[in-house]
Amino acid sequence: MKYSIGIDLGGTDIKAGLLAANGKLSCRTVVSTRVSEGAKAIAARIAQTIHQVIETADAESHPREEEKKEIVGIGLGAPGLIIADSGIIHFSPNFPGWSDIPLLDYVTAELDDLNLPLYIDNDVNVMVLGELHHGAGVGYENVVGLTLGTGVGGGVVINRKVYHGSWNTAGELGHTVVQPNGRKCGCGNHGCLEAYAGARHIVERAQQQIASGRKTCLNPERLTPKQIAEAATAGDELAFDIFSETGRYIGIALTSIAHILNPQIAIIGGGIAAAGENLLFQHIRGEFTARTMDIPGGMEIVPAKLGNNAGLVGAAMLVYNN
Ligand SMILES: [Zn+2]
Repeated sequence: MKYSIGIDLGGTDIKAGLLAANGKLSCRTVVSTRVSEGAKAIAARIAQTIHQVIETADAESHPREEEKKEIVGIGLGAPGLIIADSGIIHFSPNFPGWSDIPLLDYVTAELDDLNLPLYIDNDVNVMVLGELHHGAGVGYENVVGLTLGTGVGGGVVINRKVYHGSWNTAGELGHTVVQPNGRKCGCGNHGCLEAYAGARHIVERAQQQIASGRKTCLNPERLTPKQIAEAATAGDELAFDIFSETGRYIGIALTSIAHILNPQIAIIGGGIAAAGENLLFQHIRGEFTARTMDIPGGMEIVPAKLGNNAGLVGAAMLVYNN
C-alpha cells in the first residue's frame, strides 16, 4: 500500500503523520513550532518530524511484509497566503514578519538525501482536500469548504483539484460581503462574513445585545462562543438569536458562492461549527434555500467529518493533488 506524510504547520505546534491510501492515519508526532526562532529553525524541526514519522513507520512495518511501507511524498499545510507552485509563504498571520519565505527550499535543505517530493498549500485548502478524499466530501468533484474559528477560512476544489486563482488568493470565502456598511473586518473591509461569524465577532455581537438591555443568562465578561452555544442550547433566547443570525449570514455568503461556482457540496468545519444542527446548520440551509435560484441538483451543506485530523489528512493528500 502507498503512504504519504502530512504536516500541519501551526503557530503553536508542528504536527505530522503518515496517511495510508485508505485514509488511515498513523505515526503521529507533535513538536512545538517556536515561532520566535525563525523560519530556518522551524524548517529544521519540520524535517525532524518527517524523519521521526519515517523511523516510526519503518519500525512498525511487519517483518514478514514483502516490502516496507512505501512513502511516495510529503505535503505541508500552513496558514496564510501560500505560493503553492514555488513553495513560498508570502505572508502568514501566524508568523509575524515572514515575507516570501521559501519554506520548502529550507525544509528540502534539511532533508539530506531523502528523495521525496514535497508540496505546500494553505491550511484551509488542505482541509477541503482532506474532506474531499477521506471525509464529508467523498464522492464529489466540486467542493467548497469553510472553517469557522478565530477567522473564517475558505477553500475551493474544482474537478477534485484545489483552485488557486491567478495569484494564489482564491478561496477567501470568509471575506464575502454579507452586509454592506456592516461590521469592520480584520481585512479592512466592512461587512465580510468573518466580521459576523469569526469567534471574536460572535462574542462582540452578543455583548452589544447584552449592552442594549436584552435579557440573558450570559455574562458579557470573558464570554466565549462555546458559552453562547451552551446558553442557546439551554434555552437562552439572546444566545440562540446570535447563532441563528450567524447561520443566516453564512447562508447569505453561500448563496453568492453557489451562484458563482455551482459546487455540489459546502463543508463547514472549525470550532464554531460544533454548535451543530439546531443552532447553526438549519439556519444556514434555511437562508440558503430562501435566497438561491433554482439550481438543479442543489448544493448540500454539511458539517466537516475529519475534525482535528483534517489538516494532516489533507496535507498528506497534497501529494496526490499535484
Ligand atoms: Zn474581510
